Amino acid sequence: MINFTVGPVMCSEEVCAVGGEQVPYFRTPEFSEIMFENESLILKFSKAPKGSKAVFMTCSSTGSMEAAVMNCFSSRDKVIVIDGGSFGHRFVKLCEIHDVPYDAVTLEPGQSLTKERLYEYDGSGYTGLLVNIDETSTGVLYDSEMIGEFCRKNGLFYVCDCVSAFLADPFDMARCGADVMITGSQKALACPPGASVIVLSPRGVERVKNAQVRSMYFDLADSLKNMERGQTPFTPAVGILRQIHARLSEIERAGGADAEIARVASQAADFRRKIKELPFEFVSRSPANGVTPVHPLHGDAYEIFTELKDHYGIWICPNGGEMKNTVFRVGHIGCLTHEDNTTLINALRDLQLRGKL
Ligand SMILES: *Cc1c(COP(=O)(O)O)cnc(C)c1O
Repeated sequence: MINFTVGPVMCSEEVCAVGGEQVPYFRTPEFSEIMFENESLILKFSKAPKGSKAVFMTCSSTGSMEAAVMNCFSSRDKVIVIDGGSFGHRFVKLCEIHDVPYDAVTLEPGQSLTKERLYEYDGSGYTGLLVNIDETSTGVLYDSEMIGEFCRKNGLFYVCDCVSAFLADPFDMARCGADVMITGSQKALACPPGASVIVLSPRGVERVKNAQVRSMYFDLADSLKNMERGQTPFTPAVGILRQIHARLSEIERAGGADAEIARVASQAADFRRKIKELPFEFVSRSPANGVTPVHPLHGDAYEIFTELKDHYGIWICPNGGEMKNTVFRVGHIGCLTHEDNTTLINALRDLQLRGKL
């Protein structure tokens, strides 16, 4: 099987090997050490400012998005949500559920956020901003630094969902001034799903410590307190956290976050070059490195997904909702190579010969 979806993605041999081991008991100095190393590499790779902290959540990244909304905002806030697709819309829903007053900046699928559009909200009494740096549903990459400058000017608490952007697109938490960075185990971290990470800037740490949260599991102050000894309040996904440790160490040995981001960028560029010979159109105007959404000029996007899965052992990523039949996505994160791209292009060419596109 070759997996070109945007999560879960292909894991390295080393990560797979750790997954085949027995899962150890975790209230030990040895496991704490693994957690401290995980934290230090995550802070390094996200370029977090000095004094930042990371907490490891056993839930999918949506759980961490929800934790961020619950711990960082309340009904006394008024936030801006960049809503350019299904992940932006998820923040909108979370604000509704948790009674956080918001205004959504709604963008068309594939449309980027311009400075002009954002500055329509300048000086209007907002307290925070939430954005998915790579809106994975449309593959649009927003400008984290342009948004960060706006947040600094307006004194906004700045939450970045980097779930699919972390380790795939350049992101400098200190430079863009983000207070919260969220990522997950099954995207560019290329581990099995089940764990996610929240990085808090010093301002984020302060905010979370003073929050009044009506939740036991999603109380980030409790997570922070436990992380002081390299632990979590409740039993974490021990096996996945050990796999994350293997993966972060692997990236560090191979040159760190910038080298991994360059590798993903080259994987994306190679695919985008090769697919040009086939009858497809690109959807996004400022594409993220992690994923390429493509629109088939002939044939049904969902049928192409099914054909590739059932007859070629290749998984691409179907789109949900309104774009189900018109757009599919090809991921570039995880352990994929340029040869894998060629294999996919050859399969598409074969589908073309068979009259399916
Ligand atoms: C994948 C993804 C998520 C959440 O994923 P889960 O399915 O909850 O792990 C959130 N935001 C973005 C931008 C994503 O790509």
